[in-house]
Amino acid sequence: MLPPSVRLWRQATNMEPMGTQRIWILPDFLASQIAAGEVIQRPESVVKELVENSLDAGATQIAVSVRGAGKQLVHVVDNGCGMSREDLALCIRRHATSKLRSAEDLHRITTLGFRGEALAAIAAVAHLEIRTRAAEEDTGWRLLSEPDAQPRIEPWAMEPGTQVFVRNLFFNVPARRKFLRSDLSEFRLISDLMVRFALAAPHVRLTFSDERTVIFDLPAGTLLERLERLFGEEFARALIPVEAAEGGVALSGFIGHPQQARPSRAQQFLFLNGRWIQHKGIAHAVFAAYEQLLEPGTFPPFVLRLELDPERVDVNVHPQKYEVKFEDERFIYGVVHTAVARALHSHNVAPALEWGLAQAPLEQQPDPHSGQVLVNRLTGEIVLPERFHRRAAPVGVRPVVAPAPPVVHPAQQPELAELLPSPRCWQLHRRYILWETPQGVRIVDQHVAHERVLYERILRLFERGEPFPQRLLLPLTLQLDPAAFATLEELRAELERLGFELRLLPPNHVELQAVPAEFPAGKEEQLLCELLESYREYEQHIPGGVRERVAAALACRMAVKSGEELSELQIRSLLQQLLECRLPYVCPHGRPVFVELPLEELDRRFERR
Ligand code: ADP
Ligand code: MG
Repeated sequence: MLPPSVRLWRQATNMEPMGTQRIWILPDFLASQIAAGEVIQRPESVVKELVENSLDAGATQIAVSVRGAGKQLVHVVDNGCGMSREDLALCIRRHATSKLRSAEDLHRITTLGFRGEALAAIAAVAHLEIRTRAAEEDTGWRLLSEPDAQPRIEPWAMEPGTQVFVRNLFFNVPARRKFLRSDLSEFRLISDLMVRFALAAPHVRLTFSDERTVIFDLPAGTLLERLERLFGEEFARALIPVEAAEGGVALSGFIGHPQQARPSRAQQFLFLNGRWIQHKGIAHAVFAAYEQLLEPGTFPPFVLRLELDPERVDVNVHPQKYEVKFEDERFIYGVVHTAVARALHSHNVAPALEWGLAQAPLEQQPDPHSGQVLVNRLTGEIVLPERFHRRAAPVGVRPVVAPAPPVVHPAQQPELAELLPSPRCWQLHRRYILWETPQGVRIVDQHVAHERVLYERILRLFERGEPFPQRLLLPLTLQLDPAAFATLEELRAELERLGFELRLLPPNHVELQAVPAEFPAGKEEQLLCELLESYREYEQHIPGGVRERVAAALACRMAVKSGEELSELQIRSLLQQLLECRLPYVCPHGRPVFVELPLEELDRRFERR
């Protein structure tokens, strides 16, 4: 049965389908009502669209009040640019927008809205009233609209700015109304949204109230002041600032101290050019930087703001614009990851390193459970020599603290090294690193050292078991020899656990679709082939299981080679990463990483004694 309005409309327009014709064009109001469903799903969507419009209008003060969890009324008042009578008449039409003119504009969107859909969608499913006055005009105007009827416009005396009233949402769409949740839960959605706006625009005074109380009234201020008002002084005090600018990407905001980590992601906020977004990749970059600082199953709070050229991101993926696509996701992942790791380091969440350490950093300590354990004195890490299982720290031993840098060539992240106290160190014959200690000199093989670092990192990725596959722009298809293909079949499950995504195309092809996000870009193909080769070779030499061998093979292939020139920063970064290892003394093959040359030995050779 057709709704009465459709029947009336058909009769009025003589468009009753005739004879064999079964297709016809939907009347405007019906098309609008269907389209409205995409933009306006619940009272929260109304609040979102209206506040975004106020922000786009350049408002410095916005007040939001709701009644009946927004089902009865959503009321938004702003002191933004307002509208002329002509614009007011247009703004509730579909595809009416002042924010987008040409196809090119679509690639450089700087406003929160641009589709010109929201007011039209609201007008299709509610009673809408807009009062507005443009700053440069003497008088304002009021528009009254009801679905299915001509809107009325009349002069209205008011201050510059805009006030929107949305009443009786979905009064004409019972099916939608039935879908709404209880008032409590609809209201909670609106509150969450308002908190996100408060964090997205701390420079705007923002007031939020319902029929009973003022929920918040936040003066314009800094992000930190906002956080303090919303989450309390104590919470704000423990936060760690993050700041980075690289390759046209600016990152700022705050991350939580590991002790502030929560069992949910509710306190993770990410904004891109002022828009709240959800992005698994970036959340993962933050999470991965904390790594072993976090209790399993907990997530650090963060409020991070990314700013980048709008041409480098596509926000037009989803009508609500919460999901975005970055042109260069891996680069942004790297910027965020490094910035967070660096912030943690510089706030001493990581341990201070004692560079001139005299003896082995490994020390025997009593353990109430197993008698004796080995503890890395630099990192507090407990080392069980036979395997690399992590254990809870017994009382009296410092907990695991060092956030290890990502699995990258040290050359790719010299920033961490800048923060370290500088030991005196030199590269020798592009192969060894020479490093002054109070007792003499220590010599490190650069390849072997880096191998050790990467090996432990990869084992940790296995342990963490939360892979983050990074899709390749174009899948790579490789041809393998039969033995390599068989090896790949065998290793597949483990590789997927690391974040590789593979499609086997028997008899001898494989399509590489994604690699672990932590891995350096560009050499994926080579890495996989070499991994398969080394793995087979290691089957005989490396003790342990599949994982140890995969880790050893990958580490060997990814590590800096003998003969590569390293800068001082890279050297220092490598040394630091090495000292954070659980077993810094041997490479995965059992070769020594260091050679120690005590001063006494030198003195003896020079016959000083
Ligand atoms: P969009 O925001 O995508 O342009 P909307 O339907 O939300 O589409 O709004 C249509 C137009 O109405 C906007 O482009 C803007 O010009 C105008 N408008 C809406 N709300 C306001 C406001 N609060 N202040 C000034 N102009 C507004
Ligand atoms: Mg809008």
